[in-house]
Amino acid sequence: MAEFEDQWGDEISDDVLILAATEIDREKIKINENHEGGVLTISCSSLLEKRSSKGQNPLERIRGGYLWVSDLISQSWCEHQMIYKLTGVAFLVPQIIPPIEESKIVTAGSNLHLARELEVHDVVKIKTTSDEDIFAVKVLNLLTSIDQLLQGAKVCREVPIFGAPFGKDVFFMGIIDELRCDPETMEIELLEFKTRNDCRMPSKSQKHSHHLQVLLYKELFNDIVKGNLMKEVIAQNFRLDLEKEFGEEIMKLATKHIIGNKECGNLDLLLESLFTKSQCLTCINSVLIEYCHQANQTTIGFDQVENDEQWIKKQYDYYMDFWLGRREPSGVDIEEAWKCQRCDFSEICDWREQKAKLCGKNNQINDK
Ligand code: SF4
Repeated sequence: MAEFEDQWGDEISDDVLILAATEIDREKIKINENHEGGVLTISCSSLLEKRSSKGQNPLERIRGGYLWVSDLISQSWCEHQMIYKLTGVAFLVPQIIPPIEESKIVTAGSNLHLARELEVHDVVKIKTTSDEDIFAVKVLNLLTSIDQLLQGAKVCREVPIFGAPFGKDVFFMGIIDELRCDPETMEIELLEFKTRNDCRMPSKSQKHSHHLQVLLYKELFNDIVKGNLMKEVIAQNFRLDLEKEFGEEIMKLATKHIIGNKECGNLDLLLESLFTKSQCLTCINSVLIEYCHQANQTTIGFDQVENDEQWIKKQYDYYMDFWLGRREPSGVDIEEAWKCQRCDFSEICDWREQKAKLCGKNNQINDK
């Protein structure tokens, strides 16, 4: 599988966060310091405002116009936490938020994913010379998996996926952990691999995020199989030139995957091949999540995810309302306040502070 530098996995690197933080004018962010109580909070809304140009919505302000599926996973956990992470706020107040712990967990999980990936294919580094080359790497990796499935492979791992689900114009990228294919029936199952610190199955909230993730992957993959994704939509979202000639290395690789005995020199031809081949597959008809214990690498359990179209569309619409600027971000509900106790941003979170004040007031009223 082809890889270019800094592009492994569906995670946000520290470098991106540092970059995000340096783009914020620290002086202009609403940092509320209450010296009596020693409390300091940072407003999410002001973080978003300071990252914006006139008329931009949060999708453009903090995500450059498209989303990763993993963004929705963070969002479904807590929108405020996601904004703090994506705007790199930890680098503004390192004395309060040391970002060390999460990195260790992410690294351990990534290592296990990489080990599983290497069981089914090698990773090769290739040279890219343009944005079109970089996107071609994703297309080639997806195309390689599709070729393998069409040739009878039972398993493909780390399969890139992209598209604009539900016929809307918000573009998503993601990486499917595993596709399993029954070579007899050509039925395809999606498997998501989750590593956990402890050996219990996840909470309801975590399951909610995971279901959202896998059902979105399914939607994106099935859209390609059904022929619902257009080359022009991809070009427009990533500002790519479909006719621009690939660099030498990408051209050689692309030519191996194209239908017919001809040179594949641009995204137009490569995407044509991708769409033609993927439409020979069937849609994903089963979705499974495997939970594995990080320390001893044993399976904790499986979760078979039912496809609930109404549920996923409702979730999608709710989360998009934030990204498209139709509502303010929200933090966790009072019933999920336990999330705040294990949150790196609890000390600076204005949402948590407001909720705590409200609870205090209500308690005083009830005591009277
Ligand atoms: S403290 Fe609570 S509301 Fe605030 S970011 Fe963390 S989880 Fe979200």
